Amino acid sequence: MRGKVVLITGGSRGIGRSTALEFGKLGASVVIVYNNHDKKAKEVVQEIEKVGGKAVAFKADVSQEFELENIVEFVVKNYGKIDILVNNAGIVFDREFEEITYEESLKIVKTNMLAPLFLSKLVAPIMVKNGYGKIINVSSTSGLYDFNPGTADYAMSKLALQSLTKDLSMKYAPIVNVNAVAPGWVNTDMNADLPAEFVKTETSKYHMKRWADPKEIADAIVFLASDKANYITGQVLILDGGHC
Ligand code: NAP
Repeated sequence: MRGKVVLITGGSRGIGRSTALEFGKLGASVVIVYNNHDKKAKEVVQEIEKVGGKAVAFKADVSQEFELENIVEFVVKNYGKIDILVNNAGIVFDREFEEITYEESLKIVKTNMLAPLFLSKLVAPIMVKNGYGKIINVSSTSGLYDFNPGTADYAMSKLALQSLTKDLSMKYAPIVNVNAVAPGWVNTDMNADLPAEFVKTETSKYHMKRWADPKEIADAIVFLASDKANYITGQVLILDGGHC
């Protein structure tokens, strides 16, 4: 990954944080986009620098179109190119179906769906011009076999991301590889408040009898971003430790 410029949305915590660390360890220059957690984003940068890597944190709300333009302008101005884009930032609102509001669903759509679409639309032409590019979208098993009416809007957004992955892979082939990972449950802040009984039931459905560590998702993302995955495009890699 030496010499590669990696842009990761949602790099301050969870899967994005682990992914940033892995790319940093491998010698890439990492740009971490985050929204609220300034301190955590700074810590990720410091951790990467500690192992001799290069990283910078950029604060931007990916649910705002103009912020996407700011992100790309920043990276191009400072690095001159973008080799790898990881569309990872995502949100969920866990509630009963009756409690879903239009406003929350719109926030989910903008963050989980429209940000990857419009960020990719800005970044992919830069990759094409440069003759190299990898885009990895972070989808989910939600909506695939994992159903919960209270997070219907989240599942819709994550399935839409799989569709986007296939369209982008077609549009930007053969120069840009576009793939998605679809994790099952991962131990991150996103799931920190789930009831213990629910966690136990969900865990029992996995062949591995445990949830993923964020690093295990990061490793798959790094693989898809590497030249070992040059013939893989338009795919969704399910990362759920085997599911009953
Ligand atoms: P997390 O721990 O809650 O972290 C979310 C990250 O996204 C944070 O870095 C956050 O930044 C950033 N973010 C959220 N909204 C943003 C916005 N509007 N603009 C910029 N950054 C924003 O989540 P996670 O569990 O690591 O999830 C990462 C991705 O994996 C998400 O797309 C999620 O849907 C997907 N996923 C997660 C699981 C799971 O079980 N955890 C399973 C399948 C898929 P700040 O904190 O700085 O605001």
